[in-house]
Amino acid sequence: MHRHVYAFGGGSSDGNATMKKTLGGKGANLAEMARIGLPVPPGFTITTEVCDHYYRNERTYPEGLWSEVDSALAALEEKTGKAFGDPAKPLLVSVRSGAAISMPGMMDTVLNLGLNKKVAAGLAKATGNERFVWDLFRRLVNMFGDVVMGVEHRHFEAELDEAKAAAKVRADTDLDAAALKRLTERYLAVYRDRTGEEFPSDPRVQLRKAIDAVFGSWETPRAVEYRRIYKISGLLGTAVNVQAMVYGNMGETSGTGVAFTRDPSTGENVFYGEFLMNAQGEDVVAGIRTPRPIAELETVMPECYRQLTEVRQTLERHYKDIQDLEFTIEGGRLFLLQTRSGKRTAFAAVKIAVDMVEEGTIDRSTALRRVEPDQLNQLLHPGFDPKVKRNPVAKGLAASPGAAVGKAVFTAADAVAWAARGEACVLVRAETSPEDIAGMNVAKGILTSRGGMTSHAAVVARGMGKPCVAGCGRLLIDEHAKTVGLEDGGVVFREGDYISIDGSTGEVMPGRIATIPPRLGGAVEKLLGWADETRRLGIRANADTPLDARRAREFGAQGIGLCRTEHMFFGEDRIPAVREMILASDEAGRRRALKDLLPMQRSDFEGIFEAMDGFPVTIRLLDPPLHEFLPMEPENQREMAERMGLPVEAVQKKVESLRELNPMLGHRGCRLGISFPEIYEMQVQAIAEAALAAAKKGVKVHPEIMHPLVGTKEEIRMMREMTDRIMHEVFAGSDRKVHYLVGTMIEVPRAALVADRIAEHAEFFSFGTNDLTQMTFGYSRDDAGSFLPGYLAKKVLPEDPFVSLDAEGVGQLVDLACKRGRSTRAKLKLGICGEHGGDPASIRFCHEVGLDYVSCSPFRVPIARLAAAHAALGTRADSGTA
Ligand code: PEP
Ligand code: MG
Repeated sequence: MHRHVYAFGGGSSDGNATMKKTLGGKGANLAEMARIGLPVPPGFTITTEVCDHYYRNERTYPEGLWSEVDSALAALEEKTGKAFGDPAKPLLVSVRSGAAISMPGMMDTVLNLGLNKKVAAGLAKATGNERFVWDLFRRLVNMFGDVVMGVEHRHFEAELDEAKAAAKVRADTDLDAAALKRLTERYLAVYRDRTGEEFPSDPRVQLRKAIDAVFGSWETPRAVEYRRIYKISGLLGTAVNVQAMVYGNMGETSGTGVAFTRDPSTGENVFYGEFLMNAQGEDVVAGIRTPRPIAELETVMPECYRQLTEVRQTLERHYKDIQDLEFTIEGGRLFLLQTRSGKRTAFAAVKIAVDMVEEGTIDRSTALRRVEPDQLNQLLHPGFDPKVKRNPVAKGLAASPGAAVGKAVFTAADAVAWAARGEACVLVRAETSPEDIAGMNVAKGILTSRGGMTSHAAVVARGMGKPCVAGCGRLLIDEHAKTVGLEDGGVVFREGDYISIDGSTGEVMPGRIATIPPRLGGAVEKLLGWADETRRLGIRANADTPLDARRAREFGAQGIGLCRTEHMFFGEDRIPAVREMILASDEAGRRRALKDLLPMQRSDFEGIFEAMDGFPVTIRLLDPPLHEFLPMEPENQREMAERMGLPVEAVQKKVESLRELNPMLGHRGCRLGISFPEIYEMQVQAIAEAALAAAKKGVKVHPEIMHPLVGTKEEIRMMREMTDRIMHEVFAGSDRKVHYLVGTMIEVPRAALVADRIAEHAEFFSFGTNDLTQMTFGYSRDDAGSFLPGYLAKKVLPEDPFVSLDAEGVGQLVDLACKRGRSTRAKLKLGICGEHGGDPASIRFCHEVGLDYVSCSPFRVPIARLAAAHAALGTRADSGTA
């Protein structure tokens, strides 16, 4: 017969720590602790397979389960010398959940099962402690009512408050036996009133219902949501642990506590935790009484403290990781109720991993695996002080991490003006457009109600390393009235009000929340150094300015994989010339305007080459549709008309004529280069001249000129021909040359399919997976926000494909393009520069298909370095880090 129940403790264990999948983390570790001789109250674990069966079979149990439970209970009675439901020598048990991956606070626990009035009387006699017994009983009714029957905890809490008021005491420990007995009666009445039935007095019924409730809690909305948020999938379900009770509430030589073997917040190698005397487990976390620091246990119960410090060492030595443990002291005897890998802050994760290598406990690969790349996010941006309570009014997409606090402003121009007066502001827009860049640049953070993870706001904010909450659809942003309201009515804040946004969680809070600075320290540098020795993939950054380029280098980037030149066109000094170029009626007019732009572009590129001395710089020629640069406001149109000596109507007409229904699929990328060659010629000339100027100063320059949106061989052939021609023209006028590469983005599905032919003219490919995802799925990058959240909620898609590369579909095109491209050009250089280049799962894919490098925003470079190391190590991080 297939086994469903495993015993632990009391001299033997059926399971061990490797059996998390079937016994859950808690069950496997209880078995393991008992196995290595630590004091664990005995009990048994019902497997996760039973949970799986329960949900696959309309909430029924496998045959034979209850007789297995009965035998396990009988064995437990024997081990403890007590009997379940026997007033003469009562056995009480706890029932706790525990899946293979811990989900703290998500699932349910019931303590003190086995009590009824007769048993209570017997137990009072046996212990001589009536107060203790009624305390257990009232807790049982409360927990059973809450967990099993869904009676809200507050109904019991109200009775407790009343009892304390009547007895004129503040702490529940000050209630005497009589008061607790009365309170138990009140709890039983609450139970009856709320459930319409009597509290079950049969211990076996209690046990069975509690087991039902724990299995039932696996699919509660909060548990489902927790697994969704933490991307926990593929588990069979929860196990149920039934364990003999030990009592921390037996008097002044009893107590209970939780502890970490190191400080989970700083990573320091100190024993960290807290305890309460005369209390049961839930009191420590419930926050009713203030627990005391673990070090004080040394004076209260020196022997127990000594034992506990030994346990600390034993556990760390055994598990080779920080442990989070629960203990109970019953009449001076120490028991362990749980151990698991401790959740820790990013900072602590790094410090502990590095310290453990230096202590000789783990090797470098293990240390690298212990830190999730995305955790490093926490270290690269200021965060909100975790001690401050937040009251979010809405939650959007966590589009760019970090905490931002400032006054709400509703236009980019206001952001610029307010920032100039020294005011911290958060830019609040329905959505942003390239015209908002200046405002975004000075704002502390960006909040939008529309758009997804690759919307303009999100991409630019990540590039700038600025916190951004995007697509916060619950907020009604009125840019004219300069107010923000909620769908269900009311203004939540208006211009000038302080708001706080958390780009790491997507939360939006009114008012000012205190922040704490980022902490990048020696331990992080050390770990990233090991990552660099381990990874195969190169790491570059997407950077458009010398400042970004320098920042990227500081974070360890080995070049620029994407410099988007359009961002250089938006400065106040440039936009008029750009507009003039677009509005010009002929080539001569365009060339005149381009002449003004040339020196500005040249100095941009020179600055970037200098910042990236010795490393390659991939410069992409102009990509977005021209109308994005056009003057939309009447005021700007008048200005342009004046500048160009044209009637305003002519400007308006031109603006109108450039309007497109599907700009993303319209006149953009190399299509512009083919329609208006002079634009790209100016850009190439600027690159060549900047490269020569930088080289003259002794800078090692490696320009890589990249053509966007290529879909046919003829497009890249023409672009290549033009590029070489201009480069050589510039070199011809100088006494030196610079080595350069010409390549293309692969972001149109057709380009991937004909990659062999395109590679005949391209020396490198860079996968523009933003557009490639957009065009492969046929989901507009700008409009997907209207249905993608629903798709994710309904599990039509497992992940947002604009965040994590769709390996199954889009990935095929990437893989195919690599193979076909290399078939005609063996040394073809391959990289990725879409947003996916900074996503750990996508980086793993890039490693596997054999790309040479990934490129991502500067702030994601450390994450990418670690993710690339994980990819090279070939296994996922296996610890339970936060
Ligand atoms: C892409 O499409 O992936 C890309 C990097 O280009 P952009 O986001 O500028 O369109
Ligand atoms: Mg693109």
